[in-house]
Amino acid sequence: GRVDVVEELENVIAALELKAAQRRIRLRLEAPETLPYVVGDEDQLTQVFQNLVSNAIKYTREDTDVTVTVALADGAAVGFAGLPTPSGIMAKDKRVVRSGTSMVSVSVRDHGDGIARTHLPRLTERFYRVDAARSRAMGGTGLGLAIVKHILNRHRGRLTIESEVGVGSAFTVYLPAAGEAQSPSSPRGEGRGEGEALRAFSR
Ligand code: ATP
Ligand code: MG
Repeated sequence: GRVDVVEELENVIAALELKAAQRRIRLRLEAPETLPYVVGDEDQLTQVFQNLVSNAIKYTREDTDVTVTVALADGAAVGFAGLPTPSGIMAKDKRVVRSGTSMVSVSVRDHGDGIARTHLPRLTERFYRVDAARSRAMGGTGLGLAIVKHILNRHRGRLTIESEVGVGSAFTVYLPAAGEAQSPSSPRGEGRGEGEALRAFSR
């Protein structure tokens, strides 16, 4: 089906708001007014976003913002060179995306301890955890990112990870945009100005 990525993100954020509040973390969503749909399975894509936002809440420092940014990206640029990394490191997917394919990008940025470069290539392996003891204490199984990778493969999507130790991480998902459709199924609610934090959810 066709998935309105922003709508799914609103739902995911609303569902995780309480968990975030317990660590005094603010969840922000930044998205354009209109955006192409993504072709795919709504439940699976929701699971991707849920895993990434959950990780950010889990691994960011207390009293910080977790920002989810949605944008339209050029698929050719994603496949060829990935995104620029001003200060961080990136694990990038080297498969080439056909030139001219536009993609929707969803970037989840936290202010956690970051991930050392040596761990990045293995991060999406099943049960792989940077600090096994600490991660066990925090709960979970180490499957989240393996599931993300699996679902993205099925959607011809991509994942890039930028991270700087002591500063934070950004996990960015790229999903192929559907055809020519440029509008969401429903008009965006009030208050989704460009670059504006979304705190109120009408759903
Ligand atoms: P689960 O997702 O099953 O609850 P998990 O979060 O430990 O457990 P993954 O989501 O697969 O498992 O993440 C794997 C590991 O990658 C984590 O244990 C953690 O070490 C590291 N990691 C993931 N996201 C972040 C992040 N935002 N900041 C720092 N480290 C992260
Ligand atoms: Mg996880």
